[in-house]
Amino acid sequence: MKQTYFHSVTLDKEKCMGCTNCIRRCPTEAIRVRDGKARIIKERCIDCGECIRVCPYHAKQALTDPFSSIEKFKYKIALPAPALYGQFHNVRDINVILNGLKEIGFDDVYEVARAAEIVTIATMDLLMQKKLEMPVISTACPAILRLIRVRFPSLIKNLLPLNAPMDLAAKLARRRAIEKKGIPPEDIGVFFISPCPAKVTTLHEPLGEDTSPVDGVIAISEVYKKLAPILGSLKPKEKLVRAGLKGVNWCHSGGEAKALSKDAYLAVDGIDNVISVLESLEDNQISHVEFVEACACAGGCVGGPLTVENGYAARARIEQISKKLTSYETERELPQIDLEDVLISKPIEYVPILKLDDDRAVAMQKMQEMKAIEERLPKLDCGSCGAPSCKALAEDVVRGFGREIDCIHNLRSKVNELVREISELEM
Ligand code: SF4
Ligand code: SF4
Repeated sequence: MKQTYFHSVTLDKEKCMGCTNCIRRCPTEAIRVRDGKARIIKERCIDCGECIRVCPYHAKQALTDPFSSIEKFKYKIALPAPALYGQFHNVRDINVILNGLKEIGFDDVYEVARAAEIVTIATMDLLMQKKLEMPVISTACPAILRLIRVRFPSLIKNLLPLNAPMDLAAKLARRRAIEKKGIPPEDIGVFFISPCPAKVTTLHEPLGEDTSPVDGVIAISEVYKKLAPILGSLKPKEKLVRAGLKGVNWCHSGGEAKALSKDAYLAVDGIDNVISVLESLEDNQISHVEFVEACACAGGCVGGPLTVENGYAARARIEQISKKLTSYETERELPQIDLEDVLISKPIEYVPILKLDDDRAVAMQKMQEMKAIEERLPKLDCGSCGAPSCKALAEDVVRGFGREIDCIHNLRSKVNELVREISELEM
């Protein structure tokens, strides 16, 4: 059953020391520290994983499926994100990694990189038809998709209306198991091997679809523990590589955009850089590009918080080992795909989490209260109240989950005032 506001990124209260490191890094001001513990405002969180990266006490974590969850199904299919290929220092052949997935318990493997190539072809088709709002913004990174839905609603019309490669790979892998191998649908379990927590959220909150075609999302770091000890000596039993260079390159920043063979593209990575580009797009300051690729993680998916290897080292390794993919590319064919298979079935909608009230008049009144409170705050944005800025504390007060007295500077002046009054009375 669909849950409301499911989030992969969660807090382990026991581990949180209330240091406030995370509140400043959150791009949607979704974290507060109150009574010495952090709290995530679920509606605002986009599962970008920034807080996982910066917490020195490992108090923020991503909820993913344990590897053992594949045992719930008789026929288990792995969907490896191409970022997986860069994690192993002793492997020089992607085919070894794919065979390794079968060794550790999967019955079949469908490369997400292959689905990425199909999405590339569908994107080129749509761009040629000239029916899309320019510039077109990629929908591959679920954290950015959510960011646009909550913070940049005017850009929703620019979003590419196609399934992400993970979802397409799941559909195609399931279809292949049913049609070519005769597996009953209820026996099939499809698992994405993920570099990022936002993919877990899309499994529970699918975007542009009613239900997700994926049954589970397992962290690359968890699969790594099983694969790393066996890959060094593994002799591949079959050729499982089907994806070409263009699909594999989706794992790093610029890969998706370059695959379109268009000059007028912009590729941006890292959440702060993405926000700056989206602000410029909103203000019509970028007019010379047709396609915008935006990844929340620095360097693209190889920099995801659920990976093991440094993102830049992983990219360099993937570039080395994917050179031989050009030979595979000449031997393979992409499956024939109907554009309907790739198009999302539901419109992507605005999520008005920043609204102060549904009633416009009440919202206006709250906005005025908020401004008045903000005026009384010192505008230092020091974070010691547990909110990321004075404006955020003012909003918290209006929403009923903060007090002006949480500001230690205001508290100090109030105490000083009180001391002065008492000493005046004593005189
Ligand atoms: S970074 Fe955030 S979650 Fe981690 S200990 Fe500090 S306040 Fe708690
Ligand atoms: S995952 Fe990202 S959006 Fe969510 S609380 Fe952490 S930093 Fe904020």
